[in-house]
Amino acid sequence: MSDCKELIGNLSDFIDGELDLNMCQELKKHLEGCRNCRLVADSLTKTVKLCRDGVTEDLPESLKESLNQKLQARWKAKFDKN
Ligand SMILES: [Zn+2]
Repeated sequence: MSDCKELIGNLSDFIDGELDLNMCQELKKHLEGCRNCRLVADSLTKTVKLCRDGVTEDLPESLKESLNQKLQARWKAKFDKN
């Protein structure tokens, strides 16, 4: 998996620990070489951790959804302008 868009799409699963080991390795490898994805992953991880310090264990679907949309928008802004 080397496609950034695909990676962003898998990030929430990665953070939820729902990706299998191979996917995790691919993801980590990509993050090491891709600063933009690393920044996105970083902020997503922090956000999820913040949420998990609260009462609920799982992110509400609506929050997940809007997070993904924000991240994808940010990603687009960085990569789509040439
Ligand atoms: Zn990337």
